[in-house]
Amino acid sequence: MTILHHLDDATVMRYASGDLDEAFAAVVTSHLAMCPECRRAARLAEAVGGELIEACEPASLPAGAFERMMSQIGEIGRPDAPPPKQVARTVAGDVPAPLQRYVGNSLDAIAWRHIAPGVRKHDIALGSKSTGKLYLLNIAPGRAVPEHGHGGSEMTLVLSGAYRDELGRFAAGDIADLDEHVEHQPCVDPDASCICLVATEAPTRFKGVLSRLLQPVFGI
Ligand SMILES: [Zn+2]
Repeated sequence: MTILHHLDDATVMRYASGDLDEAFAAVVTSHLAMCPECRRAARLAEAVGGELIEACEPASLPAGAFERMMSQIGEIGRPDAPPPKQVARTVAGDVPAPLQRYVGNSLDAIAWRHIAPGVRKHDIALGSKSTGKLYLLNIAPGRAVPEHGHGGSEMTLVLSGAYRDELGRFAAGDIADLDEHVEHQPCVDPDASCICLVATEAPTRFKGVLSRLLQPVFGI
């Protein structure tokens, strides 16, 4: 698996500080299970966060801690950077381990709900404190999702298959970590369905009149 699209640095920081809604935390931990590079960044952010918390008085912050973290983050992803440590395989079957408590360990066993031609959805129940939405989408080969913007953040992790949009091609393991300013129109590759795990912060805004009519049908 070659992962080209990773978590935003700000998301890694929020994850490390325990500041993510359950829906987004589920997507982030699922990506981390698939991505050694982001696991390394998250471990680093957690370590530096721990140092910052321990240093109650600013004067006692270990000298150079922040600069050290930034230079290490800068190393990540460079061709000459040391390879990430080998880590235990964390994907069992085709469902990342952190997602298994929500949906079980096989995508074949998911109960899908038909919501539009070529589009099926599976809503995932979250705890009462969560304000986000979490669901799986299963989109047929060659299908386009109506162009849309977001009322808030949207995070999409590809679990199988691939799609392409204005930002590039997203295949298994890739994550689209989008803020409310991004508008895009994903189109699934012609040879296989694409299954994605999606977290949203607020209802997605579709642009066209037909799309807006479809929005209640999509329920997203
Ligand atoms: Zn990553």
